[in-house]
Amino acid sequence: MTILAIESSCDDTSAAVMVGGEIRSNVVATQQVHEQYGGVVPELASRAHQQHLIPVVDAALQKAGISKNDLDAVAFTQGPGLLGSLLVGGMFAKTLALALGKPLIAVNHMRAHILAHFIEAPRPAFPFLCLTVSGGHTQLVVVRSALDMEIIGQTTDDAAGEAFDKTGKLLGLPYPAGPHLDKLARQGNPKRFAFPVGTMPGYDFSFSGLKTAVLYFLKKEMAQNSDFIQENLPDLCASIQHTIIQTLLRQLRRAAHDQGLTQVALAGGVAANSGLRQALQDEAEAQGWQVFIPAFQFCTDNAGMVAMTAHFQYQAGDFANQLVSSDPRLKLT
Ligand code: ATP
Ligand code: FE
Repeated sequence: MTILAIESSCDDTSAAVMVGGEIRSNVVATQQVHEQYGGVVPELASRAHQQHLIPVVDAALQKAGISKNDLDAVAFTQGPGLLGSLLVGGMFAKTLALALGKPLIAVNHMRAHILAHFIEAPRPAFPFLCLTVSGGHTQLVVVRSALDMEIIGQTTDDAAGEAFDKTGKLLGLPYPAGPHLDKLARQGNPKRFAFPVGTMPGYDFSFSGLKTAVLYFLKKEMAQNSDFIQENLPDLCASIQHTIIQTLLRQLRRAAHDQGLTQVALAGGVAANSGLRQALQDEAEAQGWQVFIPAFQFCTDNAGMVAMTAHFQYQAGDFANQLVSSDPRLKLT
């Protein structure tokens, strides 16, 4: 079974080819245009998708050594994401499926982030607990099978990625600040400054308090010493990162304990964070967990994870028709 998958939910245009459950190509074109604005500009993202999509699909097919006529299905990200961005990939996939007379598969982007774990070994066994930490979402999900998932906790305000990006912005770091903050944190002292760990009932998360605390703290310190950020940047980064990690681990620990799950998976772009990866490994040793983190290229937005999800949906006979529409707020369950 040969599937072409398209991902265009935010600011990365990606196409992947999967043959019999094996990834043959996963091509990603990242949009640089947003950096100068300090965030993704939706209209510019849609236009860049239009420019990138055909070359990216051609590259994915070529790299896989596949022609369009070899395809058994065309998959695309239906949502959640930016409507304009989703529409570009969705219309392309629908048109291609129609022209080739092949089935169409509509994929949920957050499900795809989780099923990225099945692209390469080691793969978790069902059921497992997944912490998805990305630019727009923070979710704790019990994954019973590829198609049966339940969100047991999620953020009530900012996502973990946003917590990195927004606090990093306050420190003057370029967008997206997450990777810069990670790098600087490695040279800093995580215990130097104490910020509040967001506490929520159940397994939910909150990060807006941290953002406000950092804002007021910096205002106060900068009023006395205008070089405060410059002089303390690594310690500030390490302390903020430590707080975000503690906020995540606190709920993860509770959920794993209550659900009786010992296989713990990390998904989404924030899974690239070196501090979080280390903290999770340490926690795994202490708790007797088995931890799964996908390769970096399958953590951030990529069509490989969409192809993997489509593979499971194909096997289950879960196809879409030409009436399917992009849904910016598509729910996981
Ligand atoms: P969603 O899937 O919720 O729609 P998204 O796909 O845009 O969001 P991802 O691409 O999964 O999000 O992740 C991007 C986020 O990951 C950004 O907020 C970025 O700052 C963050 N990020 C990437 N690398 C790191 C890192 N090393 N440390 C911390 N954050 C990071
Ligand atoms: Fe994503």
